[in-house]
Amino acid sequence: MPVIDLATLAARLPARPLTRFAPSPTGYLHLGHVANAVWVWGLARALGGQVLLRLEDHDRGRCRPDYESALLEDLEWLGLVPDVGAVAEFRSGRSPYRQSDSSESYEASLARLTSRGGVFVCDCSRKDLSRAGGDILNEETPYTGRCRSRGLAPAPGRGVRLRVDPGVERFDDARLGPREQMPAAQCGDLLLRDRLGQWTYQFAVVADDLRHGVDLVVRGEDLLESTGRQLQLARLLGRAAPPVFLHHPLIRKPGGEKLSKSSGDTGIRELRAADITPAAVLGRAAFLSGAQGSDAPLAPGELAKLFGTG
Ligand SMILES: [Zn+2]
Repeated sequence: MPVIDLATLAARLPARPLTRFAPSPTGYLHLGHVANAVWVWGLARALGGQVLLRLEDHDRGRCRPDYESALLEDLEWLGLVPDVGAVAEFRSGRSPYRQSDSSESYEASLARLTSRGGVFVCDCSRKDLSRAGGDILNEETPYTGRCRSRGLAPAPGRGVRLRVDPGVERFDDARLGPREQMPAAQCGDLLLRDRLGQWTYQFAVVADDLRHGVDLVVRGEDLLESTGRQLQLARLLGRAAPPVFLHHPLIRKPGGEKLSKSSGDTGIRELRAADITPAAVLGRAAFLSGAQGSDAPLAPGELAKLFGTG
């Protein structure tokens, strides 16, 4: 049984689909990133598509230039070469695919949303946002709507939100099948820009995927629940045909236990230092994320065979 039905996926995409690998330079590359890269590159190659490299450095407080250069170096060591925004272009300072370089584009997207209505200023603090009685661990707290009709003016220390009306978002995940989500109940009005003036992850990725023409979004199951809100936001930004989403399993140890950065078993730097080959790292990441049945080494050129040859 193949991991996914490649022919069905191909039928939903253009002939040469664009997908993306979009890490955040907030730490060193770890096996979780590599698992995602195996799915991204493997599917792109199997589908005859292209991989865009995008550095999601919207969180200025946590991103560091040394993480960025380490990330690019590790990708190069693994033999994972993007088709758009290639590592060599980054090195020569030519490529613009950094979220921190894209503020004008986000301003334009925000203006578009503002002109159609539903955008409002919010000055809620973390305390205002937490649910009375305290948060339940891992449960998302929907925005209360507190600032919707307060008519606040933009000012330093205030964020910007988009009204999310009740409704069901339906999509057909390329691996998990049909899904339904209700963003208004899950998260409520979406934060577009936070109180520090930083663009949020949800807003930046949707604006970027639209601007870059990304056809296929390949990401881990931990992000599944945010798909509905991203589809809704993309539609409001004027996107006619949404990207196809595919959520892959997160990496687990063979016993089912979650891998952790702190235990040192996931850092690519550590694996490199231990003289493990790139092919062994790719094979292990493919195995632990359910893309192949054993941890046999995989050369970068062999990733397409995980999903069929297309
Ligand atoms: Zn508010």
